[in-house]
Amino acid sequence: MRCAVIGAGMAGILAAIKLNEAGYRDFTVYEKASRLGGTWRENTYPGLSCDVPSHLYSYSFALTPDWSHRFSPGPEIQAYFERVAEEHGVVPRIRFGDAVAGCVFSDGKWHLTTASGHRDEVDVVIAATGVLHHPKYPDIDGLDTFDGAMFHSARWDHGAQLDGARVGIIGTGSTAVQIVSAIVDRVAKLSLFQRTAQWVMPQENPAYTYEERAAFREQPEKLAGLHQNLSDMFDIFANAVVDSESAEIKMIEQACLANLENNVHDPALRERLRPEYRAACKRLIISPDFYDAIQRPEAELVTEAIESIEPRGVRTKDGRLHELDVLVLATGFKADAFMRPMEVVGRNGMTLEQAWSPRPEAYLSISIPEFPNFFMLNGPNGPVGNFSLIEVAEIQFRYVMQLIERIRAGECREVCATRDALADFEHAREQAAQRTVWVTGCRSWYLDDLGVPAVWPWSFVRFLEQWKAADLRAYELA
Ligand SMILES: Cc1cc2nc3c(=O)[nH]c(=O)nc-3n(C[C@H](O)[C@H](O)[C@H](O)COP(=O)(O)OP(=O)(O)OC[C@H]3O[C@@H](n4cnc5c(N)ncnc54)[C@H](O)[C@@H]3O)c2cc1C
Repeated sequence: MRCAVIGAGMAGILAAIKLNEAGYRDFTVYEKASRLGGTWRENTYPGLSCDVPSHLYSYSFALTPDWSHRFSPGPEIQAYFERVAEEHGVVPRIRFGDAVAGCVFSDGKWHLTTASGHRDEVDVVIAATGVLHHPKYPDIDGLDTFDGAMFHSARWDHGAQLDGARVGIIGTGSTAVQIVSAIVDRVAKLSLFQRTAQWVMPQENPAYTYEERAAFREQPEKLAGLHQNLSDMFDIFANAVVDSESAEIKMIEQACLANLENNVHDPALRERLRPEYRAACKRLIISPDFYDAIQRPEAELVTEAIESIEPRGVRTKDGRLHELDVLVLATGFKADAFMRPMEVVGRNGMTLEQAWSPRPEAYLSISIPEFPNFFMLNGPNGPVGNFSLIEVAEIQFRYVMQLIERIRAGECREVCATRDALADFEHAREQAAQRTVWVTGCRSWYLDDLGVPAVWPWSFVRFLEQWKAADLRAYELA
């Protein structure tokens, strides 16, 4: 039995390690870039760190005593994935620098073609192509006319001179906030262009001491205990966001409000930083020092809407030109671009575009009716906003393996979710989404074009239960 994994980010590496462990010897991981790491390879902006604690944002089978901080910096996370892939012997499995351009199902096999023209024929495809992968650029008049250095936060130009420069940042999501805190000390002037204010959850980011790391190294049970404790603590957050009336969400709201009230001293600035929607409706910002940074003399919060971009800077609707040397577009990702632009064609010539019109859907985020033996990790409508995505990918892969094993055992040749199972799942998901904090009156990338959160709307406990054993009634086994 031959498998293809598409993507060598966190999820693709996981799939490769687990396939290897389960004795699958015939598989290739396709990675379009020249290095593995996905998100952590592509994002290299100053201040990048995870916002899930590092000891939770780790594979459960590769815990490490060496994380430097509670929320460790991006390069450390990239190095972690490279090391784990190396140690588990999966790097030689990766075909680097070749994007899968097409996957067509015919005669019981998936026929893959890559950008370089290479062809492959496999029984099973595991698509681990990422969610926050394709940068989203803002639609602003004159965007291309800027004379200085301008780039998306996920395409950081390390040649751009920040020291002593006038830097503008468009966007106020987690990325923008991390960049502001990291560079405010270096620049002559920092202009943060805010369309929507954000709630900020204060979280210190202490370094682990030498002694703490030594203790983790000497007592692996301590490390495992910490991973479990963090996972349990994260349940509180996961439960909070899926129930907008819960005591937990009110606690989060109070913590964010106190952070704003106590740490922003100028009342006018405080009002401009005060969101008009509930905390965690948009992805919650975790930062120990954003309010401190934005109150520095070098920093300016610009809340006037942007009119256009000109060669010398950004003009706001009040007619003011904000002159800049560097402009950073921290404007997020096309979160619904799953797998695209890859062409995927399932049974009877059904294209992914047809299956996903009007929007991406998959049973339990992993399986699409009429696309047999094709499984996604971190696919549509999964818990992108509520859990550590590493935990999610591990749980999803364990589940997918149960289905793959049935093919290997010869119980069936093809397996995919039924249309009824998908329809029932989507109906239940949309109903449950109405209770979540994501629908309480903000615009966010969690919402699809109908305003329904494209996110798992239940608790982590339910996620664990539902994913423990595949309910075969939901699948067509041919
Ligand atoms: C700035 C930032 C911070 C984040 N912080 C956190 C955090 O703290 N905690 C958390 O849980 N999550 C976080 N995330 C989400 C993060 O994306 C996931 O945690 C995780 O890294 C996703 O891994 P992945 O393998 O699913 O996708 P990715 O990391 O996106 O990897 C996908 C890989 O597939 C490759 N690929 C795509 N299409 C093709 C193709 N057609 N052919 C070949 N290769 C292809 C890409 O090149 C890439 O290497 C963050 C995301 C961003 C952008």
